[in-house]
This record gives sequence, structure tokens and C-alpha cells, in this order.
Amino acid sequence: MAHINEEFLKLQKNYLFADIAKKVNAYKTAHPDKKVISLGIGDVTQPLAPAVIEAMHKAVDDMATKEHFHGYGPEQGYLWLREAIVKNDYEARGIHLDPCEVFVNDGAKSDTGNIGDLLSQDNTMAVTDPIYPVYIDSNVMGGRAGVFENGRWSNVTYMSCSEENKFVPQIPDHRVDMVYLCYPNNPTGMVIAKDELQKWVDYALAHNAIIFYDAAYEAYIQDDDIPHSIYEIPNAKKVAIEFHSYSKTAGFTGIRCGYTIIPKELTATTKDGKCVEVAQYWDRRQCTKFNGTSYISQRAAEAIYSSEGKKQIKQTINYYMENARILRKSLTELGLTVYGGENAPYLWVKTPANTPSWKFFEEMLNGAQVVCTPGVGFGLAGEGFIRITSFGDRNDCIEAMARIKKWLNK
Ligand code: PLP
Repeated sequence: MAHINEEFLKLQKNYLFADIAKKVNAYKTAHPDKKVISLGIGDVTQPLAPAVIEAMHKAVDDMATKEHFHGYGPEQGYLWLREAIVKNDYEARGIHLDPCEVFVNDGAKSDTGNIGDLLSQDNTMAVTDPIYPVYIDSNVMGGRAGVFENGRWSNVTYMSCSEENKFVPQIPDHRVDMVYLCYPNNPTGMVIAKDELQKWVDYALAHNAIIFYDAAYEAYIQDDDIPHSIYEIPNAKKVAIEFHSYSKTAGFTGIRCGYTIIPKELTATTKDGKCVEVAQYWDRRQCTKFNGTSYISQRAAEAIYSSEGKKQIKQTINYYMENARILRKSLTELGLTVYGGENAPYLWVKTPANTPSWKFFEEMLNGAQVVCTPGVGFGLAGEGFIRITSFGDRNDCIEAMARIKKWLNK
């Protein structure tokens, strides 16, 4: 009989979104006359930009003719898209990359989850708490997380992000090999300043560590002095891999396209101390396990870099950020303490009187028919918070705020 990889047996059941759905469905069944508004979802709601739609139609037409048909593409992505990424997302910020350092993917989830394939099982790792769960779970699958005790993995260093430290994670006082950072952050909606990011790069340089920098929400940054890429920090190319996603930048959650940057300067060592370039092994992995993102998705991604495309995706981002502004203002006026939502589509809201996250979730569902995400679902440090997203429809956001106001009796 075949043996299972027992690391998978260690995974905790992913209760968060399943539990939310169960509770919401139970409520809807018991109260069929009530309209429930979800501010919990992390999915986008607005349609694709017209420039993207046009490019996709054209790509479909290409597939209909013998001359322009595209079968398997390069595993790393088409050169025209990799060049557009370098030109628009990096050179425009003074960062020089070779298109060979860009690996187009089918969204950031795959690569943030798979990147651990490149690193030895005995590496140590650090994550912020709260956290996007993929970073931890993929390392559990990879046999790196240790044992689960009291809500935490024994081999993982958790860097708590709380009101006390203004959501700035404390750099570990010991050596770790792998560090996961996500800015703008899901779920807290907080950003990192250049000088703080510089400290992480310095730490990684000093300890030969690798930073996995998830920039999935960089397009939501509004303040000019907040870094969009870790490569804005000198020498970061030696220590950081960066992940990007078009999901939230351009509404591609259903299209599937993103990219990962692995600079040629980034190295890791073998057990006997030999330095090896990481990018070549990622390339090798992708050629073995990934057959490329679809031609149609890549043409769609290319279109967001056209002048029309840029304007159109900015309009949608502005729409979501206006939602965030409305939500932030309304919740603050109700006396709630709100973080995030200024450079990110997420608001991290402190529950009143330290109400546990799940209890507040249930009370708000019952009292206002508004759904949020309990913060503790993202890690122990999320207890006492809820996450609210600005990806909903404007009218729903406004109505949800009016209902919460009434419910809280303000
Ligand atoms: N990284 C973070 C922090 C996310 O929140 C998400 C999606 O919600 C992803 C990555 C995955 O995005 P994609 O749709 O590109 O797989």
C-alpha cells in the first residue's frame, strides 16, 4: 500500500471561511427575509477593465487561426509580458531587472505556497502574526513547521503585530533562514516604511536569510513614501524574492495571473557551504511542474500596462479605496478603533470592550446582518479584531455602515 506524506496529516482543518459560511448559511435559513451583506470576502466584485476585455477577445481570436494559434507557451511566461513588467512595475521606480528574473505564474498563491520546494527542510522560518495562512500551511506540508501546540507551530517564529508595536513586527533576536513579509498586509491593512524594510534587508544580509516578500496589494498604496517593492531597498536583490498578483490590482481573481521575481544575485548555500543561484533552480522546478499561464491570461495582463489599461485599473482601485475611506470614517465615528484601509483594501477593526473576534462576528451578524472575518482566524495575535474588506459594492458598504450604526445604537 502506498504511504501518504504524513506532513499533510498535521495540517489543521481550515475552519475559518468554512465556519463563516456555515454560520451565515444557518442565519439565512433561519431568517429568509433578511438581506445579509458580506464585508468579509477577499474577492473583488467589479468587472474587468475594458482594455483587458478587448485584449482577451483579441487573444481568443488569435486562437481561432492557424497563423496566430498559441499552444504551450514558455514556462516562465511570454517575453513581451516579462518585458512589460520590468518596464512598468520596476524601471518606472528606478529598479533594474532582467526579464529573465521575472517568472509569470497563475497567481501569487501558487508561488508563495510552492517556493518552499527550493529550500531545505531543516531551514527555520519566521512569520508575522496575524498572517495570510498559505505561508504556514505550505511549510507544514513541506515538513518544516514542527508540531502544533497551543495554537502555534513549534519550529515557527511568530512575530506578533499588535497595537503595542504599532503593527511593526519585531525582528527576531535569533537567526532564522526564511522570513515571510506581506505589505500592504493582509489582514491588517498596514504598510511598512522604507527604514523598517531596510532593517529586514540588513537582517537577511547579516544572517544569509531569504525574505519572501508578498506585494499582492502594492497597487493600493497611496502614500508616496511607502515602498511598492522590496527592491527599492539597496541590496535587497541579494536576499529577497518578491511575489505579485494581478488579482487585486486588476480584478484577475477569476483570470489567474501574477508573477514572481527571483533576482540572479539571490543565492542560497549547500550543506557544505557552496553558494548557488536560486533562480536557476526555480526555473528548473517550473519547467518540471508548471506548463505556463494561459496565453489569454497573459495577453490580459499585458493590457493593464497600456495607457488606457493603466487608467482603467486605477479607476477600479480608486473605487475600492473610496469604499475603504467610507468604511473607515463611519466605523471611526462610531467610536471603534480602526487600522489599515488607507494604503490597503483591508480594515483591521478592534472589537469594543475586548469582545472575542468570533463573539463579535456572531453579534454583528445577528444584530446588523453584516458579515466580517474574525481576526483570530489569521493567528492568535488577531484575537479581539475583525477584518473588513473594501472589495464590496458601494451601496452595500453604505448600507452596512448604516445598519452597524443602528445596531450599536449610535
Ligand atoms: N497573497 C496574499 C497576501 C493574498 O491575500 C492573496 C489572496 O487573497 C494572495 C497572495 C493570492 O492571490 P492570487 O489570487 O494571485 O493567487
